[in-house]
Amino acid sequence: MTEKPALTLYLAAPRGFCAGVDRAIKIVEIALQKWGAPVYVRHEIVHNKYVVDGLKALGAVFVEELDEVPDDRPVIFSAHGVPKAIPAEAARREMIYVDATCPLVSKVHIEAERHHEAGLQMVMIGHAGHPETIGTMGQLPPGEVLLVETVEDVARVAPRDPQKLAFITQTTLSVDDTVAIVAALQARFPAIIGPHKEDICYATTNRQASVKAIAGKIDALLVIGAPNSSNSRRLVEVGRAAGCNYSQLVQRASEIDWRALQGIRSVGISAGASAPEVLVNEVLDAFRDRYETTVELVETAKESVEFKVPRILRAAD
Ligand code: SF4
Repeated sequence: MTEKPALTLYLAAPRGFCAGVDRAIKIVEIALQKWGAPVYVRHEIVHNKYVVDGLKALGAVFVEELDEVPDDRPVIFSAHGVPKAIPAEAARREMIYVDATCPLVSKVHIEAERHHEAGLQMVMIGHAGHPETIGTMGQLPPGEVLLVETVEDVARVAPRDPQKLAFITQTTLSVDDTVAIVAALQARFPAIIGPHKEDICYATTNRQASVKAIAGKIDALLVIGAPNSSNSRRLVEVGRAAGCNYSQLVQRASEIDWRALQGIRSVGISAGASAPEVLVNEVLDAFRDRYETTVELVETAKESVEFKVPRILRAAD
């Protein structure tokens, strides 16, 4: 029998589920227990196929638009947040709806509204087309939120009054890229008002820091996450920027390109905020099948954040 080659696996921590994702999944599960199937969910509740398929098996029906939901069935809005018009339409149709928007995204919505009421126009740093960006921009009337994605966009943005501006950010951006965009905004619009740091959430920040901590030790980085998961894609970029040239997103073990990994001695593993630990374990097992592995945990922060589910789903209510 041929001996397996030796490999060190550096397991980043924190990784995987954040408090907002955990809460959103619980909301769908409790809603199914409370109202029975089908419960409709507008947009993937979190960006992970494994999670979505598991909830489908319990009776959740995923749709992209509210008009696909019958009036008499409950509907849940995803963790990424929704434009204001969506819950307003659900209320008009007298539907039962539960908003699973992460409280850290809702906090950004409230910031945007507060600035708007104070007469400021908003600049949002975010990714065009991402549901969180659509949801946050949809808190204010059209034209009140200007989107910038890059430092170059800052030169092009054309506010109504440069003296009356504030900025907000998507919660799942690259911490380092955002610092550069904020600096460009402050250089061009010295009066711009912003949050104390940015709106990037604790989970995004912590996962990026742990990837940075392992990037210098490893020959390859695998981030478990979905191609439409913003925070997972940022982890791949952070790994590459921190010096790990082979930095790849995989949804699960079957997507690992073993040929590309030939000859490596060390691999870093992390997971985006919407990727369940069961998929991390699947990847670790796939490595154990092929290598004599040593696992080293690299923990750069401890997390204890928890969010309650909305009152309508709490047992005592
Ligand atoms: S990544 Fe951050 S903002 Fe998004 S759901 Fe998780 S905790 Fe909330």
